[in-house]
Amino acid sequence: MAAAGFSMQAMLPTASSSKAAQPIGALRAPVNSSAAPRAAFTSSISGQKLKSVQQTGRAQRAAALQVLAVKDGAVLDRKLRVAVIGGGPSGACTAETLAKGGCETYLIERKLDNCKPCGGAIPLCMVDEFDIPAEIIDRKVTKMKMISPSNREVDVGKTLSETEYIGMCRREVLDNYLRQRAKQNGATVHNGLMMRMEQDGPEGEYTVHFNSYAEGGKVGKPDSIKVDVVIGADGANSRVAKEIDAGEYDYAIAFQERIRIPDDKMDYYKDLAEMYVGDDVSPDFYGWVFPKYDHVAVGTGTVINKSGIKQYQQATRDRSKVKTEGGKIIRVEAHPIPEHPRPRRAQGRVALVGDAAGYVTKCSGEGIYFAAKSGRMCAEAIVEASQNGTMMVGEQDLAVYLSKFDKKYWLTYKVLDILQKVFYRSNPAREAFVEMCKSDYVQRMTFDSYLYKTVVPGNPLDDAKLAIQTLGSLLRGNALRAGAKSVSFGSKNKVAEGVAA
Ligand SMILES: Cc1cc2nc3c(=O)[nH]c(=O)nc-3n(C[C@H](O)[C@H](O)[C@H](O)COP(=O)(O)OP(=O)(O)OC[C@H]3O[C@@H](n4cnc5c(N)ncnc54)[C@H](O)[C@@H]3O)c2cc1C
Repeated sequence: MAAAGFSMQAMLPTASSSKAAQPIGALRAPVNSSAAPRAAFTSSISGQKLKSVQQTGRAQRAAALQVLAVKDGAVLDRKLRVAVIGGGPSGACTAETLAKGGCETYLIERKLDNCKPCGGAIPLCMVDEFDIPAEIIDRKVTKMKMISPSNREVDVGKTLSETEYIGMCRREVLDNYLRQRAKQNGATVHNGLMMRMEQDGPEGEYTVHFNSYAEGGKVGKPDSIKVDVVIGADGANSRVAKEIDAGEYDYAIAFQERIRIPDDKMDYYKDLAEMYVGDDVSPDFYGWVFPKYDHVAVGTGTVINKSGIKQYQQATRDRSKVKTEGGKIIRVEAHPIPEHPRPRRAQGRVALVGDAAGYVTKCSGEGIYFAAKSGRMCAEAIVEASQNGTMMVGEQDLAVYLSKFDKKYWLTYKVLDILQKVFYRSNPAREAFVEMCKSDYVQRMTFDSYLYKTVVPGNPLDDAKLAIQTLGSLLRGNALRAGAKSVSFGSKNKVAEGVAA
């Protein structure tokens, strides 16, 4: 393997399949040199002599571990080595920033043409901050139709300026672009499925084991890499999270069908997305029709009744039927969406970013921007603490990223969590929600918050009017009584707790 940090798994003794940390000598020994020669050697000595040889061996191994255990903040005589597991938006952006910042960076992605099940909607600030070129954006959505349980439609988007839009992209295109950029900036991209990892003592290096697909084939070839830091960017089913006992999170299941519809129907969706709310499409989320390059994505999600997902999907299809009928399903996909951050997001020299950490917002189910941003912020913390990859970093340096991220986005998560609790709890509340969206003020606030990721402070007079309007809408819809049992502002707010932790 050309890259210095890689070493073939086939060179390792088979004992290294154990999850426990291996003695460094064993990790270094070529596979064929371990069993047979050692048996021949031990049979030629015995008793006291053998004991002293064993003690010397142990001392040597301990000394080797000492050498490889590098204290946090120690100056390195080589570059800091970081493995990023997962090449979605969080992993690609982590790797790009690390490589640019002088770290020796390895990005391990199991499927380089992965087509992540996703609506693919991204805010304007992502396009700007992450320099996403125009060709990655399939469609610029400037109109959003909110459709209530009784099929009342409200058009949202009239407050947008000529340059404002929601970007719609295909994930296979976006992810590939971001990974290529990481590579151009110096990251080594490897096609492999990470299987497990172990650390050589508390301050030792990590050995990350993966099945390499570099030479093709479905099964892959065992391989491994030795690094100082590991970043888990491997999505909702993160193996890295399991390795550090990061704990579980509640999750929604999201289901989506990609449907190629006739041209005239596609024309209707060319710059328009739809959001359906109602008990029929989801008890706690919304159904969507998002325009893609040459098709639409129709989907829905739920946390509280996962087994009903197909019935909710059917209802979303039925509600949008007039506009999508005659279409051909070209892909069916489903995936978990985390509901709140994991109890632990960093341990030792390992940190989680993106969905692996649990950064999807409630209410909108948005995660691409937060994945990219958390990856970049984590990498920036590492680059800064390591002084461009020249010093060893530790858990405290990774915690800097966590506290900065939490400080920046805590309010956004909190507000969206409350909105979901208030407005997605009953059909009357949803009717009130859609009615409220008629207000220019609400539209401007909502779009500003979404497009620029800031919870915009409003004008106090308009805020007061909005509060009265909201209450009016809820009372008119009898929503406060209808859903009174299912909402409690005092209830445990896991998103907020997790993010603020
Ligand atoms: C149906 C659906 C619709 C959605 N719609 C939107 C939307 O419109 N807008 C939005 O902002 N968000 C949306 N989301 C959320 C969004 O998809 C995620 O928040 C986002 O993809 C998180 O990015 P990530 O890089 O953290 O993880 P992922 O995108 O999941 O990437 C993880 C990567 O790691 C790789 N990987 C996993 N395990 C391993 C392993 N062991 N070894 C090596 N590689 C591995 C995977 O192949 C994958 O490429 C949606 C989610 C779903 C399920």
